[in-house]
Amino acid sequence: MYSCMKALQNSEHTTLIKDHFKYPKSAEYLMKIIIIIQPISFELTAELSISLERQLSKDFDALVRILPSIKDTLLPLDSFDKNRGQWKSNNILQWILDRKKTDGSVKILAICDFDAYSNHLNFVFGQATVDGRASAIYLPRLRQEFYGLKTNDSLFYQRIVKEAVHELGHAFGLSHCNKLTCVMHFSNSLRDTDIKENNFCNNCRTRL
Ligand SMILES: [Zn+2]
Ligand SMILES: [Zn+2]
Repeated sequence: MYSCMKALQNSEHTTLIKDHFKYPKSAEYLMKIIIIIQPISFELTAELSISLERQLSKDFDALVRILPSIKDTLLPLDSFDKNRGQWKSNNILQWILDRKKTDGSVKILAICDFDAYSNHLNFVFGQATVDGRASAIYLPRLRQEFYGLKTNDSLFYQRIVKEAVHELGHAFGLSHCNKLTCVMHFSNSLRDTDIKENNFCNNCRTRL
């Protein structure tokens, strides 16, 4: 596991892309990588579902499937740290992997409406496994209300899309980028998330 710190290696993805050109159109379609979105304790609005589906299918040339929401009561109890009042992100990712056995052609992104931390970090906006099969983003700190500000759904949705693209960027092999406006720039605070765009810089895009 890692918290937005390391580059990922996903040779299977590279193989799929290379093989892409050898097959007729119908088979090529079947070779596409699938991104599964699993909301946990969160209902996606139609507007957010459409934004995510559009952005992720375009950025990763993937098929996007959004599953019905499940409740956090399904998660193992020891994934919650009672002293901190936060969930353990490493455990959440492991639970995702245990629940759905996937190969490298399926990437699962959990969208969780609860706060989480990982290792030495006080909190994480998101996290991905080193092999890229599982990733998660955590929503409470993406809301204006968390900071005592007025609700702004449009801004909230933009932040969700950016964090989703960022974590899946890791899942597809990208590491952090120094460019402030690139979606792969590390968000130390929400200000960093708001400064960056929801797109990859040219350098990151060519490495996808
Ligand atoms: Zn990261
Ligand atoms: Zn970049």
